[in-house]
Amino acid sequence: SKEVERHSYDVVVIGAGGAGLRAAIEARMQGKRTAVICKSLFGKAHTVMAEGGIAASMGNVNSNDNWQVHFRDTMRGGKFLNLWRMAELHAKEAPDRVWELESWGALFDRTQDGRISQRNFGGHEYPRLAHVGDRTGLELIRTLQQKIVALQQEDFKEHGDYEARLKVFQEATVTRLLTVPDAGSETGNRITGAFGYWRESGRFVVFEAPAIVLATGGIGKSFKVTSNSWEYTGDGQALALLAGASLVNMEFVQFHPTGMVWPPSVKGILVTESVRGDGGVLRNSEGKRFMFDYIPDVFKEKYAKSEEEGDRWYTDPDNNRRPPELLPRDEVARAINSEVKAGRGTPHGGVYLDVSTRLPADVIRRKLPSMHHQFKELADVDITAEPMEVGPTCHYVMGGIEVDPDTAATPGVLGLFAAGEVAGGMHGSNRLGGNSLSDLLVFGRRAGLYAAKYVDELGEERRDVAEEQLDEAAAEALAPFGNEGAENPYSVHQELQQTMNDLVGIIRREGEMAEALTRLEELKERAAKAGVEGHRQFNPGWHLAIDLRNMLLVSECIAKAALERQESRGGHTREDHPGMSAEWRQVLLTCTLAADGGHVDLVRRSPEPMRADLLALFERDELMKYLTDAELPADAQAET
Ligand code: FAD
Repeated sequence: SKEVERHSYDVVVIGAGGAGLRAAIEARMQGKRTAVICKSLFGKAHTVMAEGGIAASMGNVNSNDNWQVHFRDTMRGGKFLNLWRMAELHAKEAPDRVWELESWGALFDRTQDGRISQRNFGGHEYPRLAHVGDRTGLELIRTLQQKIVALQQEDFKEHGDYEARLKVFQEATVTRLLTVPDAGSETGNRITGAFGYWRESGRFVVFEAPAIVLATGGIGKSFKVTSNSWEYTGDGQALALLAGASLVNMEFVQFHPTGMVWPPSVKGILVTESVRGDGGVLRNSEGKRFMFDYIPDVFKEKYAKSEEEGDRWYTDPDNNRRPPELLPRDEVARAINSEVKAGRGTPHGGVYLDVSTRLPADVIRRKLPSMHHQFKELADVDITAEPMEVGPTCHYVMGGIEVDPDTAATPGVLGLFAAGEVAGGMHGSNRLGGNSLSDLLVFGRRAGLYAAKYVDELGEERRDVAEEQLDEAAAEALAPFGNEGAENPYSVHQELQQTMNDLVGIIRREGEMAEALTRLEELKERAAKAGVEGHRQFNPGWHLAIDLRNMLLVSECIAKAALERQESRGGHTREDHPGMSAEWRQVLLTCTLAADGGHVDLVRRSPEPMRADLLALFERDELMKYLTDAELPADAQAET
């Protein structure tokens, strides 16, 4: 291992999406020598695909909006399982992060009077999503990249080297975090660096650093039908587990209600919620706007009773309630699932989403340009003239690495931080649309800031990478070349995706999840024998064989936690336990690596009780729907 390529930094950020870039910018602005690593091309992260917008209570379109309303909506959307401190910080800081983006050059769509425009989205009481048409993620990444270039130009002036303090390493995949024992941490581990390979050459590379920020995104590629790109193989979640950190809330996986269902080659690709936010309606094969039949009790007061009221809301939101097409995503996805199951689906097994009868063609082309293009190109459907066919698609994981809400530090491993989709807690059991892009910026910044502080506190007291860990990591990565012809990594992956889709999907049953866990064990054995042919130079089969370890570990977490949680809440629906239970709200399921190193253990934890001033933001009647009697505030406190 002596001749492995090595780089040394203060802070290494793994992931170049919104969370990773915002963390790296912050660490650099704190004066730290910072590296960003990503496995795809720089600028290609998942964040680029974000369409609808970024949620922040700026109140530009409806001045009644403020952080308290955003906080309430977020907690309701997550069915009160959110780590409330994260939801609080997020609601308070999101507007600053959007204005900051604007000062760094982001060009958002405007209101008539020239302010940043905000659009409606499911679960948000007021128009709240700042956006750039339906291509918001692209503008977000573009702006952050531009900021990085600006910082590099400053460094050139000062040091004669653009990359003196901030460098991007693209097309490098990290396969292991490196640690040394440390008596000062809970689990006894401290970060020393990260190990990975260059995708192109297959050669190994080591990044030495006392602080690492994981910002690797989600897990969607463990499921068959998904809106996620090839990058989402649960790498960060698995890297954290293997280093000694824990994952929380992994049973909560968001199935977005509207993915394309036809043709088969594009099944799962996202149809943005903006279509509904801007007036699109859902109908079954009988032409009925079925969502009116699916408003759950907890939301009865907040949604329109009739189509007429729902339609009036678009122009007069103060005197009407919103249409049920804009319920949180878990509700809409379940409703679509039920309609299709009841035989009222479209020819290709979805429902109709229609905006053509609701808006003039030129408005559709202006507000939803990507959707117009996507359906024309991929499905030969003109959405200005015909309805789309849509159905649920695996979209987002609410669960993730357990972090301290304020600092984004993992409690288990010194020097390890996490932000963005890879981190858990913020969204509880269900994320509201638009709350991810704001989450990336709020907690990306915090992760970069506190990683820098951690490095400051360490001073000169850094530890070397343990050489035997490099040898182990290299041997693990090379194993598939020794298994030539034994198992095909592509078949193992396909079976994994089918298993998760069929047995741990949108509607869950005890027997099926137990069956899934048995199959995951078999798949793990087969993955260990997965073999590849050829060389280390760009070899996608080899890369997949390495990714399988991550997807299987993360899938085990999802299946184990889902089997354990005997209630239905947000992105976790149990046919055998349909109700939501106040007792289960007091349970957080966390996963840690088992002693054998190849499995996960489930541990129950109790969430911290919500601060009284935050509880007081809700009516007592509403709290009674979620909390146990013992948790309810005294009457006096609830009178606000
Ligand atoms: P990403 O942007 O995915 O970045 C992950 C990075 O980690 C990448 O650079 C990747 O290369 C790198 N990486 C991963 N593994 C490794 C490894 N092993 N080694 C090195 N690098 C690695 N949310 C909203 O709020 N509003 C929206 O309108 C919206 N629209 C969406 C539309 C679509 C189609 C999808 C799929 C999601 C949408 N979301 C939206 C969700 C949101 O886009 C994501 O949750 C968010 O972008 C995740 O950002 P991130 O920074 O955590 O990760």
